[in-house]
Amino acid sequence: MSNPINTRIVLAARPSGEPDASHFRLERLPVPAPGPGQVLLRNRYLSLDPYMRGRMDAGRSYSPPVAIDDVMEGRTVGEVLESRHPGFAVGDQVVATGGWQTFVVVDGDAITRRLDGMTLPISTALGVYGMPGFTAYAGLHEIGKPQPGETLVVAAASGPVGATVGQIAKMRGARTVGIAGGEAKRRYLETIGFDVALDHRADDFSEQLRAAVPDGIDVYFENVGGKVFDAVVPLLNDFARIPVCGTIATYNARGQVLPGPDRLPGFFSQILRQRLSVRGFIQRDFIDLFPRFLEEMGQWLADGRIQYREDVVEGLENAPEAFFGLLKGRNFGKLVVKLD
Ligand code: NAP
Repeated sequence: MSNPINTRIVLAARPSGEPDASHFRLERLPVPAPGPGQVLLRNRYLSLDPYMRGRMDAGRSYSPPVAIDDVMEGRTVGEVLESRHPGFAVGDQVVATGGWQTFVVVDGDAITRRLDGMTLPISTALGVYGMPGFTAYAGLHEIGKPQPGETLVVAAASGPVGATVGQIAKMRGARTVGIAGGEAKRRYLETIGFDVALDHRADDFSEQLRAAVPDGIDVYFENVGGKVFDAVVPLLNDFARIPVCGTIATYNARGQVLPGPDRLPGFFSQILRQRLSVRGFIQRDFIDLFPRFLEEMGQWLADGRIQYREDVVEGLENAPEAFFGLLKGRNFGKLVVKLD
């Protein structure tokens, strides 16, 4: 490489509410050299995910926040440019926590996934065939447990988690109701096999959902919270399961007391009366299932039994704007940034 430069985006300030361009800063620095046991990667794809909004906040969570002036965290698919680790050679493709930048040096021992012999597009290792797809698989396997004839509801259903939840539940024999924002996404849900597809922006969304689940809801895979959750709660059946995967509707409001009546005592009472199972999870809680996921999902994708959609943004400099869009539903499919 002649005069190699690493372009990177760092966290410049912590947002209160919605993030904007002032919270990020683009920097250009010399590409670092790998030390013993390390590899230099050229990041080819960066995954943009809703959890990154949480990393911008200080305070306790399941992972520490990104420090001010540090590179924004993110999974990447990268190619080995230089290796000082015996397990990696130039040209190997791997999944790493490479961050919002074009090059990264990582410890070889910290790389958990190689993409040797991958026949699918490598970007899928960040989506349906990576962390989000695994989230759907593990959340259903361990908590949702849809049974034949049961009704499952999921929102953010055109995204990599929701779309995969719907398609796996359908394979398990459940009746599936997918919820998304806008008519184009709603129609897409019908093409990937949801039995009913609804637009949460419709004025009569709650009534539409009630009509869509005449036998009630047995599994509500919680991705969003907000008004979708409000519409689901009265429709839950006894012994319903709620894997709490994400609450994106309130990611910009963390730590704030939201307006409106306090529904918590009523919901706790409902959990008791209806013997509901409500369990939050982070996908890595179930990491022992990952090899089995790779095998099963690889087969389903090869057979065309699972379909997916990607939303590819070109260029690292466009990552912040794409990320703001993700929090507002402007993405359509798994959001990745192509860095080549
Ligand atoms: P995604 O669907 O690609 O993108 C997020 C989607 O959320 C948006 O496109 C938008 O879709 C929807 N959304 C945003 N604000 C909303 C609101 N106020 N009400 C309803 N929907 C809203 O994202 P993803 O990567 O598949 O993730 C889906 C959820 O899973 C997120 O909550 C994420 O944090 C969570 N997650 C959790 C884990 C875990 O380990 N627990 C792992 C991965 C992801 P519409 O336009 O359709 O509304």
